[in-house]
Amino acid sequence: MKKQYLHLSAYSCDKCAGPVIAGSIAVRENEISKETGIREVGAICLSCGHRQSKATEPGLTHNFPPTQWESKKAIGVSPGAAELH
Ligand SMILES: [Zn+2]
Repeated sequence: MKKQYLHLSAYSCDKCAGPVIAGSIAVRENEISKETGIREVGAICLSCGHRQSKATEPGLTHNFPPTQWESKKAIGVSPGAAELH
């Protein structure tokens, strides 16, 4: 059965050095298959609101364990469509 996974990573903001949280969604066809169709769903600095989609210092990126993401409705939202603040 197809499952969706939410991946979160955190890195430093270029503007204020605060934490930027970036999310992406990947799909797995079954338990043992590789993840496919990885899509960026957005990135924003929690401190100043700057939308920084890439870490400028890759060594400092923290990756959180993927979480199963049930809501298919949320996946259809295009990046930048929802304002977080
Ligand atoms: Zn910032």
